[in-house]
Amino acid sequence: MIDTLRLTAKEANALLTGGELSSDELFAAYRAAIDERDPDLNCFLHVCDESPGAGIPIALKDVIGTKGIPTTAGSKILEGYLPVYDATVTERCQARGLRTIGKTNMDEFAMGSSTENSAFGPTRNPWDPSRVPGGSSGGSTAAVAAGLAPWALGSDTGGSVKQPAALCGVVGLRPTYGTVSRYGIIAFASSLDQVGPVTKTVADCAFLYSVIAGRDPCDTTTVDLPHPVEIPEAEDLRGLRVGVPRELNEAEGIEPGVTESVQAAIELCRELGAEVGECELPRSVEYGLPCYYLIAPSEASSNLARYDGVRFGLRVSPDGIRAMYEETRDEGFGDEPKRRIMLGTYALSAGYYEAYYGQAQKVRTVIRQEFAAALERFDVLVSPTSPTVAFPLGAKTENPLAMYLSDVLAIPPNMAGLPGLSIPCGLSEGLPVGLQLIGPQFSENVLFRAGHALEQALAFDVVPPRLA
Ligand code: GLN
Repeated sequence: MIDTLRLTAKEANALLTGGELSSDELFAAYRAAIDERDPDLNCFLHVCDESPGAGIPIALKDVIGTKGIPTTAGSKILEGYLPVYDATVTERCQARGLRTIGKTNMDEFAMGSSTENSAFGPTRNPWDPSRVPGGSSGGSTAAVAAGLAPWALGSDTGGSVKQPAALCGVVGLRPTYGTVSRYGIIAFASSLDQVGPVTKTVADCAFLYSVIAGRDPCDTTTVDLPHPVEIPEAEDLRGLRVGVPRELNEAEGIEPGVTESVQAAIELCRELGAEVGECELPRSVEYGLPCYYLIAPSEASSNLARYDGVRFGLRVSPDGIRAMYEETRDEGFGDEPKRRIMLGTYALSAGYYEAYYGQAQKVRTVIRQEFAAALERFDVLVSPTSPTVAFPLGAKTENPLAMYLSDVLAIPPNMAGLPGLSIPCGLSEGLPVGLQLIGPQFSENVLFRAGHALEQALAFDVVPPRLA
């Protein structure tokens, strides 16, 4: 019997290369886990019965284009859409033998922090099915936490890998902007979107990052990595300068149990040999969220203009082309994309552009500079990933601002294009707490090293007790 709840990708791969299991047997084991547990969790929008390749399975967020396999981005407007090409990240996974086991549930067009904005029903948290898994990559993080895939890919625009990784007790990386190709990814906010790994261990995360990262001629924002990805092994933090930004650690709304876990992890950094000090990000935390909620919806209003009933998915066809556009969009989009399209269209409109979008771009530069200053003194900055642990389904659906605040700590580094790693660092009221590690551009190796050393010392058990 394969214990898919505990098996890491590295261990799964070792079983394969050691000849103890075939790729088909491994695929079948995860398929069986999906059949058993997914009816309660709803992590998958589509499950693959077969998939080419000789390696281990992987689950892909439904925002990632997969040739001939339904790709909806959690939206009714893309129901039935079959991409005619693979995203670059899909291709790169396949080139390494990884087999797509399914497409994971998500907030519609990656807009949300709980997966409740999916047009196909919410995903539930494997630690407590009455609670959300976070979002928007909640299907990917819940699938890994529940042993339905050894690892997965998500996407992170404003926290959508880091925050659900925190709420599901798994590892999630939002890579440096420009290191992972966006080609074939359904666009939300192009200056922020980035695909990232979801795994059980930091070593698995580093490996999967090495598979997907690097320049892609199809996405001109991508670059060659300045150094090869290193799989972390160090067990200490000697020589590492760890900064604790006050505003990111003392923001309003951080639950006491979250602070307690994170403080203990910071103390552990000291014990592991790091030099720990305080620092400030005076404006990044205050203005990060409002700045994001101008820039991201502006870009979304433009990116989502292509869903008009002509080329993709849903078409509602009354008389006349204008009525077709209107009714297709009215029926196809859920409330949150509609809200973002209106916000973005307003922020970009003549007369308001300078005051909203233009101003937000300037604030973004300030945020970038603040992080750059802090990261001159420190190698890594730490904070909670999410102010709260997983909240009950329905708790924030009536209050968009409360939902947006779930990402108040995850968004600021994203605005600066910086990488962020979330690792589980403890429990509060029996639910996982995530620690966010932020570094300069292209510092993924440093984040992996620090995350791995902490992970060894923390010995967090990634298996949700109710499934054990
Ligand atoms: N929760 C944030 C939003 O709703 C971030 C989403 C994301 O990173 N895709 O926009």
